[in-house]
This record gives sequence, C-alpha cells and structure tokens, in this order.
Amino acid sequence: MTTAEEWNEAFTPRPVHEYLESTVAEFGSRPAADFMGKVWTYAELGELVDETAAGLQAMGVGPGVHVGLCLPNTPFYTIFYFAIMKVGATVANFNPLYVEREIAFQARDADVRIMVTMDLKIIYDKVEEVRKEKILDKIIVCPMSFCLPTVKKVLFSLFKRKELADIPNDAAHIRFNDLLAKGQKPKPVDIDPAESIAVLQYTGGTTGVPKGAMLTHKNLSANIEQMRCVFEKARAGEEKMLCVLPFFHVFAMTVAQNLSIILGAEMVLQPRFELKSLLDAIKRKKVTLFPGVPTIYTAINNSPLTENYDLSSINLCLSGGAPLPVEVKESFEKLTGCILVEGYGLTESSPVAAVNPLDENRRAGSIGRLVPGTSSRFVSIEDRHSEVAEGEKGELLLHGPQVMKGYWKRQDATDEAITPEGYLHTGDVGYQDEDGFIYLVDRIKDLILCSGYNVYPRVIEEAIYQHEAVDETIVIAIPDEYRGQSPKAFIKLKDGFSMTGEDVKTFLKDHLSSIEMPRDFEFRDELPKTMVGKLSKKELVEEEAQKRSEA
Ligand code: AMP
Repeated sequence: MTTAEEWNEAFTPRPVHEYLESTVAEFGSRPAADFMGKVWTYAELGELVDETAAGLQAMGVGPGVHVGLCLPNTPFYTIFYFAIMKVGATVANFNPLYVEREIAFQARDADVRIMVTMDLKIIYDKVEEVRKEKILDKIIVCPMSFCLPTVKKVLFSLFKRKELADIPNDAAHIRFNDLLAKGQKPKPVDIDPAESIAVLQYTGGTTGVPKGAMLTHKNLSANIEQMRCVFEKARAGEEKMLCVLPFFHVFAMTVAQNLSIILGAEMVLQPRFELKSLLDAIKRKKVTLFPGVPTIYTAINNSPLTENYDLSSINLCLSGGAPLPVEVKESFEKLTGCILVEGYGLTESSPVAAVNPLDENRRAGSIGRLVPGTSSRFVSIEDRHSEVAEGEKGELLLHGPQVMKGYWKRQDATDEAITPEGYLHTGDVGYQDEDGFIYLVDRIKDLILCSGYNVYPRVIEEAIYQHEAVDETIVIAIPDEYRGQSPKAFIKLKDGFSMTGEDVKTFLKDHLSSIEMPRDFEFRDELPKTMVGKLSKKELVEEEAQKRSEA
C-alpha cells in the first residue's frame, strides 16, 4: 500500500480544464451530457468551452477575475466552469435558489462583478435586482431554449414562454450566443496549479456567516486523482452518471461533474430533484453511477412510485454530505442490487476525504478510509489540540493536497481552521479502528451536553431510524433546567403509519441509555432540509429558541 507521502510525491497537479481536454481527445464522439433527452458529445462540449473561453477573454476575463455561476444543472454550468478556468479566472458558485439578499452578500464578499445565469425569470430576476444595486457590472444570460430537444422546445414556447425573462439590449447584458467566439480558441494562459484559485466555494450557510473556501487547481486536481483511485473499476467511456445533486455544491461539482469528465461518462443532468423525473431518467438512460445524499436514497426507498421502475442498471452509488443510516443503505442495495457506499468530505477539502471501498469490504456505518495522499489526527474536543489515544473519540483533523488554501479575505478564520502544520479542523467528532475505517459520531457543534456527558444526537437518530415507521428524524439539544441540555427528537413518519412519543420511547428503551433518551418528541409532515437536500437542524434549533423566548 502506498503511504500518503509516496502518493503525494507521485502526484502532479494539473489545471482542472486539462482533464476535459484529455477526455475530448480520447472520447470526443461519446456523449458527455444529456439534458431532458438532448445530448452533447464530448467534442461538442469541448468546442463550446473553447468558444466561450475565447469570448470571455475578449471581454477581459482572465487571472484574478471572479465570475459567478448562478445556474441549475444544465450544460451551461459545465461549459462556463471549464471556460472560466481555461482563461485563468476563478469560478464562484452561487445557489440559484438563493434569495436576492444572499446573492448580493456573496457577490460582494467574493468580488464578483460578472454573473452567468439563465433567462428563466425565477433566477434571472433576482440576479438583475442585484445588478441594479450596482453590485454586478455584467450579466451573461444563457437561453433555456438551447438546452431543450426540439419537441420540448416547441412545448416550452407554447406553454411556458411567460416563465422567460425579457433581457434588455444594453452593454450590461450579454447573451450567450453573442459571447461565443465561433470557431475560436482562447489564447493559452499560464496557470500555477498550487496558487491559482479555481473555485471560490461558499460554506457555512447553515451555521454562521458564509465564507469563501479558496480551492486551487491543485486542490481540485488532487481530489480528481483521489476519486480516480477510488473508482478504479469504473469503465472509461461507458458509464452514465446521474447528476441530480446541484453542481454549485462542492460534492456534486467534484463527484458528479469532474468524476464524469475524467471517466468520459455521460452526465444525465437533472435541473432539480423531483422523484418521478429522476426515476424516469434512470430508466430512460440506464444510469450506472448515482452519487446522492441520504435523503434522496430514503425518498426512493420509501416511495410507492419506485415499484414501477427497474433500477437494476445502477451499479455504484456514493452517499455523502450527511450520515447514511445503515437501514437506508441496506434497503437501497436490496431494492436495486447496487453497491451503495458512504463517503465523507467537506467544502474545505474539495470535498472528498474518506470513502468506503467499492466492494464487499465496505462497512455500513463507517465513512470509510482516507482517500490516497491524505492523513488524519484525532484531537481532544475540549482543547482541540492534544491528540487522543488510538481508537478514542476526538475531533478529526485532515491533511492532504485537497485541503483548501484558506478562506477568501478571512485570515483569522483560516488560522482557526488550519493548524500551522497544515491540518484542517473538520469540526466532526469520530474515531478510527485498527483497519483504518473511520466512524463519525457527530459534529462538535451538535453535541448535547447532558448532565456533564457528551450525548451524540446521531446515535439517537440511528436508533430512531431502526423503527419501521420512521421516514426521517432530526435530534437537537433543548435547554433542560436539571441536566443543562436534553435531546429532543423531530420525526417524520412514513405514509400510513401513526405513533406517539410514548411508543417511540418504549421502542428506544432497548437501544439507548437513559441519558440519551429524548425528553421530547414532535411529529411533523416535513423536516427542514438544506438546498442540497441534507436534513437541517438550524431551523428547528431557531424555532425552539424562539418558543422559549416567547414563553
Ligand atoms: P459541507 O462543507 O457543506 O459540504 O458540509 C460538510 C459537513 O457535512 C462535514 O463537516 C460533516 O459534518 C458532514 N458530512 C459530510 N459527509 C458526511 C458523512 N458521510 N457522515 C456524516 N457527516 C457528513
């Protein structure tokens, strides 16, 4: 087995767009992307990237310029992502579901003056408002009609035209077709992979003020090579990747898009998560690879729609972003016959840091082993510095070529996050067994301090998931006058089930110690989720605090 040092010595970082160029050269005639039935080959994608890059260069976009992408999963995302990098500029990812205030904050913070978006009113109108506040100078507008196959284009113009925005004819608005420099390539730009920021990726949206993680070409290139090692059995030029997680999120950007590019896989693009269209797409394209977050696999497991679909084309699924309940993994593997493995990462590590082996050695409940070139330490959660004994629980610290350069314009936050030896504080608590498998127990900030003990909400959630009636659950801390804090469980039941808090308590008696037993249960029809579909505690914590301040 190669050590982290050996792997890093052998690793040569590359500018990220070069990966696309290699695939265009090798798999030019193969399909690169499918959007609702319209398909682009790798050769077509490569040409569009070149023409866009030449157009951007003519506008003066180059090193040091930050270009915002406020796009759903369409070919435009991939075209601009690589074109911006090819001219040496930086991609700043924006969530197209953000409200105007959030777009404005991030554009200002990231020094973004040019934003790429679509002519769909629901996105464009917000970006245009931000421009009017003089935060943006230019908007590049991509036409929805470009993405649609002929029949859908006709239907769209008949029934949905009013969903399109009117784009003014002035210098501040550049239409995609006018930007393209037909038949041209950009002039080559020198890029230092270790220094040049490829992507500014905002994080911390669910907790505190968002900060821009500076991910260099080297960071992303390392994570691409690390994923190549993990997916060594994938068949180059043959795979079909379901791209339902939004590309603006670091997990999908790397694991769905960039991994597809190096594998020469066809990206089956889903502009948003809608269960029926996702199942239709799997059936229509015979999808083979499917990265997701646990709530998506849960939704498929528990929907009555699923039994009408043959999902057996799926070979490999990688779940990340949040804990994958063992029960969800097992049901999904049984349903599809695929291998579903759990991986782990965070924005600051580009993102993948650990993955389970994609074979029978995978271990349910573990985030797997560190990816090549990566090392870890586990430190005390009290002082966040002294190393804990082997196998003991502590905060996970990561070291590797995928660890960000720092936070944009936030030296203080960077110094807090990265130790002088280059280890990244993940804020996640876990331990490693003797075979190198890592088990996470929770995030430091979610720990419940109950009568002086650390109670891990995740342990309680895992126990609740074992009840057959439970669809989703979130456990948070609530104030407790005797114990300091106590757990409270929010539960969404599966359709057709009913139960009370007492029923759950009776069930949990065999699974939890008394200190871990939730003091309160609340049943809801929906639980809050982040924009990538992870269950989100923030809203519930705020609601509880609000209730208490009103009491
Ligand atoms: P983000 O930077 O928004 O992608 O969030 C990263 C955080 O998601 C990590 O610090 C973890 O707390 C959490 N996370 C990611 N993958 C997993 C996983 N497999 N199990 C548990 N938590 C995870």
